[in-house]
Amino acid sequence: TATGDKGMSLTTKVLIGMGAGFLLGVILNALQIQAINTHFVSGFLGMIGRMFVNALSMLVVPLVFFSLICGVAGIGDIRILGRVGGKSFGLYLLTTATAIAVAIVMALVVGPGNGFVMEGVDTAGVTAREAPSVWETFAAIVPRNPVAAFAGGEMLQIIFYTIILGVAALMLGERSKPFVEACEYMNELMMKVVQIVMAFAPIGVFCLICKTFTEQGIGLFIPVLTYVLVLVAALLLHLFGTLMLYLKVFSGLSPIIFLKKIRPAQIFAFSTASSNATIPVTLRCVTERMGVNNSVASFTVPFGATINMDGTAIMQGVATVFLANVYGIDLGLGGYLTVIAMAVLASIGTAGVPGVGLVMLTMVLSQVGLPLEGIALILGVDRLMDMIRTAVNISGDAVVTTIVAKTEGQIDMAAYLDPDTGERVD
Ligand code: ASP
Repeated sequence: TATGDKGMSLTTKVLIGMGAGFLLGVILNALQIQAINTHFVSGFLGMIGRMFVNALSMLVVPLVFFSLICGVAGIGDIRILGRVGGKSFGLYLLTTATAIAVAIVMALVVGPGNGFVMEGVDTAGVTAREAPSVWETFAAIVPRNPVAAFAGGEMLQIIFYTIILGVAALMLGERSKPFVEACEYMNELMMKVVQIVMAFAPIGVFCLICKTFTEQGIGLFIPVLTYVLVLVAALLLHLFGTLMLYLKVFSGLSPIIFLKKIRPAQIFAFSTASSNATIPVTLRCVTERMGVNNSVASFTVPFGATINMDGTAIMQGVATVFLANVYGIDLGLGGYLTVIAMAVLASIGTAGVPGVGLVMLTMVLSQVGLPLEGIALILGVDRLMDMIRTAVNISGDAVVTTIVAKTEGQIDMAAYLDPDTGERVD
């Protein structure tokens, strides 16, 4: 491979960082030396981890803007743009709805939380978040002030504004050439910045993982073990089963190659627990490793990071069934259909940032009338669950991206099939 002469590939180094962080974290958690755990791990390593996540997030808004302008200019036809938008939106809804439906059925069959004794659980401090109405969610896609949208990192607003700008540039034709060329240059520049930040990934990931496992004891998992097991099983089933089935059926592409090439993005999603911060990595995985044309990926990836959350939806489903069992409440078919609808809608309007799944859960629970205090039960294990579901979330984004690209003829099959692109670019 191209990196062979320079030694290990970056992915390998990141994996080593991850493994080392995990080992050290588990050891430190067992030793419980307060001075080390609070000052060194939570303080110092936490700071470096935070810096790394901040650096990834810092890339997102300019990268999405410039690559999306290039994408729209590259497609060059507003009708194709509409088709890509429609297809990806439909597929995102479909994957999320299937994800949660399967998760609810699995949880109902296994029955986690049956016979749970609610004792010694601190239930204070969980407050409901009002679910925004569908109409509000859609209205908010149009920004009143683009500068505020960019400053606040409002992904859907940024996408909306940027597409309009790109379309306007298309309409101006020749006159827009300098603008489009400048954006192409800026896009290249941003990709270089991504590469610089990624060089620090092994250290960043080490710090993030070490901190998580130092702070999270195994003890937290025991009382809610059935919840954790059903949730993880449902997440894995979705990742390796449902999503791969969709990929094969809708695009005919090989799931095995897909799973191999998406790995770096999954590692970053797992380490950062943020689909948004992972956007630069997901973009590079699908374009450079899988050969998806930027004109599709520059839109579907940031769009998916915001509206598509399969893993998060699965967590909503399993958590609702678990809490319904804990409280001995039967939600009935209508209740579960409400949960599915709520989770799909809530995932559209919420950003892919750490812990958002819990906020969504307060909306879902209050919608079906389950006591919110129940959330306290699963709070302790949520960080780790967040990491896993975020990896599933971005995998869903990438699956839909490749399906749309394949059906639009916007994928370089030679690159997709080339086993080396995986090593060449990471
Ligand atoms: N952290 C998840 C994401 O960024 C959202 C969540 O489930 O909390 O996709």
